[in-house]
Amino acid sequence: MERTLSIIKPDGVCKRLIGNVVQVFEDAGFRIAAMKMKRLSRGEAEGFYYVHKERPFFGELVDFMISGPVVIMVLEGENVIQRNRDLMGATDPREAAEGTIRARWADSKQNNIVHGSDAPESAAFEIGHFFSGIEIC
Ligand code: ATP
Ligand code: MG
Repeated sequence: MERTLSIIKPDGVCKRLIGNVVQVFEDAGFRIAAMKMKRLSRGEAEGFYYVHKERPFFGELVDFMISGPVVIMVLEGENVIQRNRDLMGATDPREAAEGTIRARWADSKQNNIVHGSDAPESAAFEIGHFFSGIEIC
């Protein structure tokens, strides 16, 4: 059994897609082990995306991530890290496979509705960034 961190980004919340995205995860058989809605502080968003801090889009990415509330979830299931990435689709919605979350609902490479951890190490870091042990059911 594996865990991953999922975020419905501000564009997903703004476009009223919380229910649609959660339905995709539940239909896939993932268990939602934790869930919270909050508006990230600049420090939280910078810390979360620190691996991208040298990238040219970092400032805009942080501005986007704090532009409105997000929904943060811990998803649990077998091979859930990769399976969640498969459901999300490629970063750029124009390259995302048909039927994926980003192909269906994303507007751009930045405004791409969801985040998902990409490896066990990043999942552990990201879950710890947002949830304490007692918040995970
Ligand atoms: P995420 O980490 O959010 O799940 P990802 O792993 O598909 O997405 P990353 O390469 O980790 O993509 O980039 C993190 C986020 O930074 C992307 O989801 C997107 O919002 C933004 N981003 C990535 N590349 C670009 C770019 N070239 N221009 C603008 N924004 C970008
Ligand atoms: Mg990533």
